[in-house]
Amino acid sequence: MSGGEEYEFVCPDCGESLAVNESMRDALIENGCVICGTPVSVDEFSVPEP
Ligand SMILES: [Zn+2]
Repeated sequence: MSGGEEYEFVCPDCGESLAVNESMRDALIENGCVICGTPVSVDEFSVPEP
């Protein structure tokens, strides 16, 4: 892995999955899904197992 924390986001509405870093995660929580605009919570993020 290349430094920084990584999370996997799966949108509960449109089903889009994205690998994001911590700042992208915060932006998604603040702004909603980039694809469909659904509000997302921290629950939609998981840390992939190595
Ligand atoms: Zn979505």
